Amino acid sequence: AKAPVITIDGPSGSGKGTLCQKLAEKFNWHLLDSGAIYRVLALAALHHNVELENEDAVSLLAGHLDVVFKPTVDGVRVFLEGEDVSRDLRTEETGNAASKVAAFPRVREALLRRQRSFREAPGLIADGRDMGTVVFTDAPVKIFLDASAAARAERRYKQLQVKGFDVNIAHLLAEIEERDHRDRNRPVAPLKPADDALVIDSTELDINQVVEIVVDYVNEKL
Ligand code: C5P
Repeated sequence: AKAPVITIDGPSGSGKGTLCQKLAEKFNWHLLDSGAIYRVLALAALHHNVELENEDAVSLLAGHLDVVFKPTVDGVRVFLEGEDVSRDLRTEETGNAASKVAAFPRVREALLRRQRSFREAPGLIADGRDMGTVVFTDAPVKIFLDASAAARAERRYKQLQVKGFDVNIAHLLAEIEERDHRDRNRPVAPLKPADDALVIDSTELDINQVVEIVVDYVNEKL
């Protein structure tokens, strides 16, 4: 039988990333940060002077993407063609560029197999936008984590500040809204809850409360 998957989809800043890390630790399961793959692809396009608007060239790049995820004591480090790109990866500019290349159907197709290969025993926590709707439609547990745009901008602001990035919150809110709008309205794999997903609005919840809700739900389902 295939290893079980817990899919966690939602917009940026909803708390997905932290939730997924905590679940992966708690269950000792593998973790797929699918957004990181789209981000690396955007960086690869920049490195190779491929225009983000060029679907042919970007999907070709997606099929040959040389990316390695290395777990370390202070988080996963990401290598693109051998170069550590962990820092560039997390900027809002990279997120925005990622959401442009992610809108192309052939790019998404080229990355499907790579994402599914993360599914290994004892199980997988899959973080993204279309984990429950496209990539792992047979997952036994699906979560859609949402929050107001204002709450998400504030969380993102704090995260980026801690990492030493100089950011402006109004600008950040505008970028988050632009990116969400693109992710929710694209024709292929738009951001939306799977029909069988549990939808959680985390606007008024802290991360520990969200973890508790999800762990209870997982225990009920698995
Ligand atoms: O989650 P993260 O902010 O790292 O994702 C960056 C971008 O990658 C998203 O805005 C989205 O456009 C794209 N993405 C996607 N499908 C996923 C994960 C991310 O389209 N499963």
